[in-house]
Amino acid sequence: MQRIGIFGGTFDPIHWGHLLVAQTALSQVPLEKVIWVPSFNPPHKTAVLFEHRGEMLKLATRENPAFTVSLVEAKRSGTSYAINTLMDLSSCYTNTHWYWIVGLDTFRTLPRWYRGHEVAQMCDWLIAPRLLGGETIAQSEQICKQVEQQLKEQSFTIDWQLLNIPLVGISSSLIRKLCRECQSIRYLVPELVRSYITTHSLYSGKSE
Ligand code: ATP
Repeated sequence: MQRIGIFGGTFDPIHWGHLLVAQTALSQVPLEKVIWVPSFNPPHKTAVLFEHRGEMLKLATRENPAFTVSLVEAKRSGTSYAINTLMDLSSCYTNTHWYWIVGLDTFRTLPRWYRGHEVAQMCDWLIAPRLLGGETIAQSEQICKQVEQQLKEQSFTIDWQLLNIPLVGISSSLIRKLCRECQSIRYLVPELVRSYITTHSLYSGKSE
């Protein structure tokens, strides 16, 4: 049975933090492949055109043969939900054990996701610690255990492990903010992504 990771996100834009998370997932489990899935119409967020985000993902991941970009969410209308993505990908990749790759900030919202309890049980969870509220690694583990407990109280089980990565303070919002302020984003995103953002004048006048 092959082991495949799904890394869903808005990727508006993709940055080095995302790439480090995906690479760590590949080697830590280890996985055969990571499928990057940009949200077509993410709940709770507005983002630049799907085509731009998909293109930047392809540029950033093309050197790694274990990375694939899937545009599966563009095939559905309405809001993009994880459960649909997982079911669509499962029909393309049979005989697969699935892993969902996620940052801690997103993982802690899992009990509130649309059909989150089902998604929780359909794959293993690889969680990247993230310094948002000043959490330490020990606190990250505590937060994951709380999510596990919340699900358990409703009779759902979940398998998870923390990814062993150094905390990376990069976020897409930081990149967008720097672009708006005409500051450099060099070394925060891959060079090809930086050039793409400049060429297409992305984020320069966007208000959040
Ligand atoms: P934004 O700043 O716009 O909220 P983001 O940087 O969180 O964006 P997303 O595309 O929303 O990027 O993230 C996709 C996934 O990657 C989420 O699960 C998020 O938690 C995770 N992630 C993003 N950046 C990091 C990081 N620096 N460290 C760990 N996980 C991250």
